[in-house]
Amino acid sequence: MARRYYIHTFGCQMNESDSQRMGEALKRSGWDATAAAESADLIVINTCAIREKAEDKLFSALGRYRLLKAQRGTRIGVAGCVAQQEKDALLKRAPFVDFVLGPDHLDKVSQLVEQGGVETDFIDSHQYLFPQADAETSRGRATAFVTATKGCDNVCSFCVVPYTRGREVSRPYAEIVREVAGLVAVGVREVTLIGQNVNSYSGGCTFADLIRRTASVPGLLRIRFTTSHPMDLSPELVRCFFSEPKLMPHFHLPVQHGADTVLERMRRKYTIAEYERRIAELPGKIALTSDIICGFPGETEAEHEQNLEFLRRTPYDNLFSFIYSPRPHTGAILKMAEWGEVPREIALCRLEEVQALQMARTLQRHRARVGSEVEVLVEDRGFGRSRENWTVHFQGDASVGDLIRVRVESASLVALRGLQAGVVAKAPPAEAPPRRRLAVVSA
Ligand code: SAM
Ligand code: SF4
Repeated sequence: MARRYYIHTFGCQMNESDSQRMGEALKRSGWDATAAAESADLIVINTCAIREKAEDKLFSALGRYRLLKAQRGTRIGVAGCVAQQEKDALLKRAPFVDFVLGPDHLDKVSQLVEQGGVETDFIDSHQYLFPQADAETSRGRATAFVTATKGCDNVCSFCVVPYTRGREVSRPYAEIVREVAGLVAVGVREVTLIGQNVNSYSGGCTFADLIRRTASVPGLLRIRFTTSHPMDLSPELVRCFFSEPKLMPHFHLPVQHGADTVLERMRRKYTIAEYERRIAELPGKIALTSDIICGFPGETEAEHEQNLEFLRRTPYDNLFSFIYSPRPHTGAILKMAEWGEVPREIALCRLEEVQALQMARTLQRHRARVGSEVEVLVEDRGFGRSRENWTVHFQGDASVGDLIRVRVESASLVALRGLQAGVVAKAPPAEAPPRRRLAVVSA
């Protein structure tokens, strides 16, 4: 029987995609996936270092998996951003870990399982090759992530990404389009182009051009992308939202804070006036979402008020808000003594104010759709997403990959609920999986 692996993924879409690539590499070496850590011969924890809490989760997961190792000899690997950040120090803190693997070395996972050790050196930008996705992994799914860039060349003072993911590298557009075509052939109907700063893409064409080339893949219905930096929002990308029907009307454009003085300390390279000028050019119906950090070092009551004032006048569809978490190597931690730490209870109060403001508005926006119809791409039985990326639960017989209309009957903060009202496009049959061929030796 083949040996079995289990990958536990923390963090962003980048990590989800990396976990799939590691799974594919293990499969090529004869491993099978299992859905239960208890029955695995190998557990890989793919980690996130964005906030301290994410790191803590790694160590509590390691505590649980250590028992499995003691009981059945399960091998344990740590991959992702914490692996990259901690390197061999992780083996000192958790000596029962068999190997540590940075995000640049996903394809080496099978090798490391056998030999153990640490592989975290960054690969030079010019030599980096993006791992190719195996479309078969996405068979039976309506949506898939497609990597467009890796790393980040910005140095926002709160962010650890440049230290864990390295310099920004763009994937050649032909590779991306080929991957998208392969995904469509197995039934995928929506792709999300991903990268830490995806709209600064430069893999042989502009990002807007990449969207148009992706849109030209026959059978693909929807395109999304994440995450974007406001300074890389080009007029050409704005025009795409008006002219490219496959590009969905949802844009995640994190502002981080509503006060210029905080943005300056964060090294975000724009002012609120510039941000507002840019978003004013977007189509009125777009669902704009954002990230906000509360309690950034030195944040005064007046700056927090400016943040709330900005949020009150900016019609965000949804907001992801966080308490500032000090991260190693970053600019803000080095300046902490000078700027001053915001006490946790104050940061928490500010976060609650930000969240209360947005929750009321998100709920209002969702409720405004009750009685109308929304177009939904079905991702699972009775579940899908609207064009704006809202979660929709519905009653009806639509299958995965169908594009349907749903009449909205009720709405909560997190989802719309309704009845299937019609079919826009049935999912076409996916191409059959390739048949296993016998190796043919030609003279
Ligand atoms: N590249 C995106 C941008 O520039 O807006 C952000 C990507 S980051 C992986 C995702 C989000 O995590 C950020 O937008 C920020 O709000 C949050 N984040 C990053 N570092 C943080 C920190 N040290 N403390 C709290 N939140 C943080
Ligand atoms: Fe981090 Fe985004 Fe800034 Fe890059 S642009 S350093 S990923 S917050």
